[in-house]
Amino acid sequence: NISSVASREGVATYVIGGFVRDFLLDRGKPVDIDIVVVGSGIDIAKKVAASLPGKPEVNVFKNFGTAMIKHKNLELEFVGARKESYHHDSRKPVVENGTLEDDQKRRDFTINALALSLNETDYGTLLDPFNGISDLDNKIIRTPLEPGITYSDDPLRMMRAIRFATQLRFEIHRESLEAISAHKERINIISKERIVEELHKILLSPEPSIGFSLLHQTGLLHIILPELTALQGIEEIEGQKHKDNFWHTLEVVDNIAKATDDLWLRWAALLHDIGKAPTKRFDKKIGWTFHAHEFVGAKMVYKLFKRMRLPLNEKMKFVQKMVLMSSRPVVLSQENVTDSAIRRLVFDAGDHVDDLMTLCEADITTKNPKKQKRYKNN
Ligand code: ATP
Repeated sequence: NISSVASREGVATYVIGGFVRDFLLDRGKPVDIDIVVVGSGIDIAKKVAASLPGKPEVNVFKNFGTAMIKHKNLELEFVGARKESYHHDSRKPVVENGTLEDDQKRRDFTINALALSLNETDYGTLLDPFNGISDLDNKIIRTPLEPGITYSDDPLRMMRAIRFATQLRFEIHRESLEAISAHKERINIISKERIVEELHKILLSPEPSIGFSLLHQTGLLHIILPELTALQGIEEIEGQKHKDNFWHTLEVVDNIAKATDDLWLRWAALLHDIGKAPTKRFDKKIGWTFHAHEFVGAKMVYKLFKRMRLPLNEKMKFVQKMVLMSSRPVVLSQENVTDSAIRRLVFDAGDHVDDLMTLCEADITTKNPKKQKRYKNN
C-alpha cells in the first residue's frame, strides 16, 4: 500500500530504524514501524490512510513534521527525510529537508540507521551506508558519525546506547564508551522523565546489571543516581571488612529479574540498600553496622522518586515497603523464588506501613517519643 501510494506520488519511501533492526535480529512482533519519506511524511500518511480499509485516522504532529496511523495493532509513523544540526544548549535540532542518507546520518546508532526500500524499482533493498549489518553481526553499538558529536548533540543517546547494550547484550564500541565518559556532564540537559524512561528499560532487561555497570563505568550513574554509587567500596578497620554494597545490589537486581517482570519490584531491589551509605559506622564491639538503614533508605526512596519525577503514588509506597524489608530481596536472591512468593512477602510488608507513613509526612512529625528518638538518630 505505502509502496504504491508513494510511487503514484513520485516520492521515495523507506522503512527505517528499530523495525529493520529487530526484523534482522528476529526479535518478535513489531509495535511500531518508522517510515521515512523523501518529501512530506504528513501528505503521504494521509494518502496511505485514505487507501486503507476503514480509512484509519491520521494523527498529525505538525511541529515535528510527522504523522501516525494505527493499523492492525501497528503504529505506522511517517516522517519526511531530514537533515539536523544542533545548538550547544539543547537537544532540539535545527531541522531542514534532506535526503535518505541525511536522515540515516541523524540516527543514533549504525544498527538503528538501516533502511529498507519500499520503492517499486528496488523494493526490499537494504540501504546500509554505515555498516550497520556488520555491527549487528558483531553485536556492536556504534554511532554513524564521530561519537563525540553524536553524544554531545543529544546526550539522551548516552542512555540509549547503554539501554540497547543491555537489552540486546551488545558491546558499546570503545570510542563510544570513551565519548560517553568524556561528555557525561551533558546528561544534565536531558529531562528526568527521559532518563527515567531509559532506566525503566534497563531495569526491565533480562540482566539489568549490564546497564548499571556501564552507567557506573562511564560516570553517568554518579550524576543520575549518586545514592547508588555511594554504596561502592569496601572499607577495612581493625581487620574487619564489609561487603561492597553496590556490586551486591547489582547481583540482587539480576536475581530478582530472573524471578519477576514487575518493574517496581526491580526498582525496590535496586534501592534496597541505599540507606547503607549514610548509616555506615564502625563499632568497636560489633564491627561494621548499618543501624536502621531500612528506615533511612525508605525515606531516601521518597526523595529519589521526587527528584527523578517518578510517581509519588502507590508504586512508590510499594518500593518503600520493600526497602523497609530490605533484608528480604537479599534472602530472595539466594533462593529460587516465584513471583507469587515475592507478592506474599510484599503483603507481609504491610506491618511496616504505619512507620513508613509517619516517616514520609513532610518531616519527622510523629508524637511518639520513642519513634521521634529513633528518627532523629537516623
Ligand atoms: P525501541 O522501540 O525498542 O525503543 P527503537 O529503535 O524503535 O527501539 P525509538 O525510540 O522508537 O527506538 O526510535 C526509533 C528510531 O528513531 C531509532 O531506531 C533511531 O533510528 C531513531 N532515534 C530515536 N531516538 C533517537 C535519538 N535520540 N537520536 C538519534 N536517533 C534516534
